[in-house]
Amino acid sequence: MSVKLNQIIQAIEALAPERLAESWDNVGLQVGSRQQCINRILLTLDVTADVVDEAVVKKADLIIAHHPFIFNGLKTVSCDGEKGQMIAQLIKNDVAVYVAHTNLDKAAKGLNHYLAEIIGLEKIKTLEPSNPTRYYKLVVFTPVEASHKIIEVLGKNGAGAIGDYDYCTYRSSGTGTFRPKEGAKPFIGAVDKMTSVSEDRIEAIVAAPELKNLIAALKRNHPYEAMAYDVIPLENGDLINENGLGKIGILSQPIGAVDFITEIKKRLDLKALRGAGKVPEIVRRVAICSGAGADMIGLAKAKRADVLITGDLKHHDGQRALENNIWVLDAGHYGTEKWVTDCLKQMLTAGLEDACPEMIVAESSRDFIVNY
Ligand SMILES: [Zn+2]
Repeated sequence: MSVKLNQIIQAIEALAPERLAESWDNVGLQVGSRQQCINRILLTLDVTADVVDEAVVKKADLIIAHHPFIFNGLKTVSCDGEKGQMIAQLIKNDVAVYVAHTNLDKAAKGLNHYLAEIIGLEKIKTLEPSNPTRYYKLVVFTPVEASHKIIEVLGKNGAGAIGDYDYCTYRSSGTGTFRPKEGAKPFIGAVDKMTSVSEDRIEAIVAAPELKNLIAALKRNHPYEAMAYDVIPLENGDLINENGLGKIGILSQPIGAVDFITEIKKRLDLKALRGAGKVPEIVRRVAICSGAGADMIGLAKAKRADVLITGDLKHHDGQRALENNIWVLDAGHYGTEKWVTDCLKQMLTAGLEDACPEMIVAESSRDFIVNY
């Protein structure tokens, strides 16, 4: 199946918009054109010379990576250096490179949510919510007989989505009045006659990016010539927001620390697992942050996690874990982030459905850190 690169980018950014990325990061399309046709995608954690070779050999037209391929200001594309050679090889072979990094880490249903599900967490919440979306309360007035249709339009267009629920609306009944003026073509009533109608007031929250399309859809479906509606800005957007770093959740069955280690090694497919801090007797509440998340030790403790699973644990992170009276497990930077390929696969399959091109996982992307 061939699809424009632009469509693939839209499918990723529907869940992990670029605006979620950290300011120091560099995400998005790094090589190629949005107009390119894509038949085969190579998914990888890193873009190395071996990964570029693999893309060429396996005839992939697009590499989707987690870590930025171009990160620090690129000064030259000279083929005398490795980066320049890689860029030249990519362009000569029409291979595009797209990066979803901290935007994917922080997306409500991004990499950390995927990891939380792998390790069996339930009631998953964001550990450090950020990038709040502005929310509005949209109120629409409609004749009673059109209420169900209006609720359907609201839900279908993303209004009333709160946590694990959608189509959340509130309806109250009342009486609306109006007088059609000369030139009006009223659905109910007649020109120059004051009319009273039994109406419903239907309200739902809506995120700012959805608002414009939602109002247009409502106007297309509302029976009245002039739809009456209010848009009210909300102050509690952060409470609804689930974007941000890390996740926290609970295990369906609390287990002992030794069994938990065995379980995590199995679920994350790890040969080894390092740890530090206070080992709890029973593990129930678990925080997780992909990559290097030792900065989350204090927050994980504040949110009553029994353990924080992350990567890149340093000596003094271990000391901080002890001081905070919390257990920290180091599953490795690679160990927590190699799952990005499966996460992207799931996202693209859901987003593009039948139009999704073939996806392969790079065999040459591996852990740079070796245990001898
Ligand atoms: Zn990383």
